[in-house]
Amino acid sequence: MRNTFYTLLGLLVLTFSVRTATAQYETYNNNKFKQLKEELPTPNVYRTASGAPGHEYYQQQADYEIEVTLDDDNQTITGKETITYYNNSPDDLKYLWVQLDQNVRARDSQSKKIRQRSMNEKMSFGGMKRMMNDFDGGFKISSVKTNRGAKLDHTINYTMMRIDLPETLESGHTYTFQIEWNYNINNRMEIGGRSGYEYFKKDSNYLYTIAQFYPRMAVYNDVEGWQNKQFLGRGEFALPFGDYDVKITVPADHIVGSTGVLQNDRDVLTSKQRNRFEEARESDSPVLIVTEEEAIENEKEGTSKTKTWHFEAENVRDFAFATSRKFIWDAQGVDVGGERVMAMSYYPKEGNPLWERYSTKAVAHTVKTYSKYTIDYPYPVAISVNSKRIGMEYPMICFNYGRPEEDGTYSERLKYGMISVIVHEVGHNFFPMIINSDERQWTWMDEGLNSFVQYLTEQEWERNYPSRRGPAYKIVNYMKGDKSYQTPIMTNSESIFQFGNNAYGKPATALNILRETVMGRELFDYAFKTYAERWAFKHPTPADFFRTMEDASAVDLDWFWRGWFYTTAHVDIAVNDVKWYKVETGDPRIDNPIARKMDDADKKYIANQRNAKSVEKTITEKDTATADFYNRTDEYDYTSLDVERFKEYTASLNEEEKAMLDTNMNFYEMEFELVGELPMPIVAEFSFLDGSKEKIHIPAEIWRMGDEKVSKVFWFEKQLVGVEVDPNLETADVDRNNNYWPARNIPSRFELFKKQQRGSPKNRMQRFQEAEER
Ligand SMILES: [Zn+2]
Repeated sequence: MRNTFYTLLGLLVLTFSVRTATAQYETYNNNKFKQLKEELPTPNVYRTASGAPGHEYYQQQADYEIEVTLDDDNQTITGKETITYYNNSPDDLKYLWVQLDQNVRARDSQSKKIRQRSMNEKMSFGGMKRMMNDFDGGFKISSVKTNRGAKLDHTINYTMMRIDLPETLESGHTYTFQIEWNYNINNRMEIGGRSGYEYFKKDSNYLYTIAQFYPRMAVYNDVEGWQNKQFLGRGEFALPFGDYDVKITVPADHIVGSTGVLQNDRDVLTSKQRNRFEEARESDSPVLIVTEEEAIENEKEGTSKTKTWHFEAENVRDFAFATSRKFIWDAQGVDVGGERVMAMSYYPKEGNPLWERYSTKAVAHTVKTYSKYTIDYPYPVAISVNSKRIGMEYPMICFNYGRPEEDGTYSERLKYGMISVIVHEVGHNFFPMIINSDERQWTWMDEGLNSFVQYLTEQEWERNYPSRRGPAYKIVNYMKGDKSYQTPIMTNSESIFQFGNNAYGKPATALNILRETVMGRELFDYAFKTYAERWAFKHPTPADFFRTMEDASAVDLDWFWRGWFYTTAHVDIAVNDVKWYKVETGDPRIDNPIARKMDDADKKYIANQRNAKSVEKTITEKDTATADFYNRTDEYDYTSLDVERFKEYTASLNEEEKAMLDTNMNFYEMEFELVGELPMPIVAEFSFLDGSKEKIHIPAEIWRMGDEKVSKVFWFEKQLVGVEVDPNLETADVDRNNNYWPARNIPSRFELFKKQQRGSPKNRMQRFQEAEER
């Protein structure tokens, strides 16, 4: 332990900060605490400086009447739709933009052309198949017509179609038009996709999870004008709200799960199923509406008959459905804000036993927990559909992975992965389905915010739930990684490096740090909920989020948004040095012996020790005549007169001054350094000689002057023996080796014989069962 002992020369200086950064000639203010005036758009009548919608905020609306038919023999969708578009903007529109997302799978798709591939990379059979696939999955638009059946001029530009209106659509008016189309459904297992089919060889059946299946209106607003940036595959969707009336025709033995509420249950469900559904509504645990036995019976033979399922959905930004004759279906009710929401799951027998055990319960838990942190779940149903490998979200319905082994066992990783994906995708109902951000532009606004509430939800599912993202310490490896492979969070979706860490992990972590370390839970939760309330069923932008979080909390967070969202900087705070001071009493009887002792320490100097032996006698030793008063006394000797003077001095002090002089306080001057560039509050734990501990929290503004090093003085009656920066792993500090005083080395674990040690291909359930059978 390096414990330097100093005496404090006076009582005047108790706290001070040393400016270590040299003031450079600066032409531009690069202070980390500079307000975000230049980065954020100027507030206006649509979006206020407080982060709330402005008094002239508007948004467009698109209502749909859709009829689609699924051809189970050829895996195609054929459909027609009537779109009623409401121009609520103050602008007159000459044309409308419609999104043709399936054209990402057209033969001439731009996303195929811009995909990079190197033959030096290892390629799997699947990878090679995907690279060489020539599947034609684009929309075939067979007609675009006015409401009266006249041809409408239109131009297709890859994934966008411009409808040239016969007359300008004036502000406050609506326009109704029709589109007919068809497309080939992609084999999701071979060429991937958010939507598509999975084929089950064993019983030769298909399971369809269908989305982006109809031409969808683009968003027109005060931020982008028309958001008609091409769909390249990664930056997801920007969609207006509207009401949907959808009729889905499928083989008569299929079970359909969908966005919205079923309107014709008498036509498509048996009375037994309808009774079970009503029973499920009142039940707090899942009730089977189609059992596994019934599903197995159902999948044995097909049919040439069809049935049409009719759904309606209000105020949604999109619509998706799943259909298969393999579906088991269960449901339960959940109370949210006085309403009974139906939590439901659809899955093939291949999903069991995991799905019957967890899916619907995870849906119900997610709906409840998110409602607490954001707004009450406003839709009547929330559905989870078993869909191999992926997780993908739509309003009221999502497609989630999770398939156990054929023997019914499953790994721990699969179990938690499945619960997490269900929480995550159901959670997307809130971000971005209700708090309707522009995914084409900003992935973090839905994925990051959603991953954050996902973390909160997981931790309420099971104590110490193995959440993949959210805790500060889990982002450390990414944050300290190669900066040339990092982009700021505020980067367009298509240009993000390390997608998962950047758009999911880092923003989710940033929010946890705000909540636990910078703002505290009370201020954070209120502000976060305010953002959700303000922007529910609206289109928020990053600035609306940044501003609301400050507006509702009175915490200046510009430095935080700047560092975490606009740069790739990381956190690393070090404690460099701790100096110990005691107050000089002024009493020579006390102070002088201490000072002498400290001086004596210098006598350890190596030459002194050697000279003691090598120099037999010095002059003053040999010739006593050379010794005078100063050889007989030292500067620490004092006389009774010195003591008298001290007594006179103390007599002149008042009681308060006397007490301060008498204090036996220990003063510690600590130097902290911002090694990483990202400012963060200094959170530190002090350990004392008597075994007690104390935690301190210094706001990030300690770094506001641009100092790289700051000093603070702390005082205690107890003697300090240790300091640890970020003891509870809350700041994403990337290097903990410099977090300790006295210095400490943190052992890292390294893996030996990586390949040989990892071996068992069996999951823990299988290994335990095997051991039991022996
Ligand atoms: Zn997501």
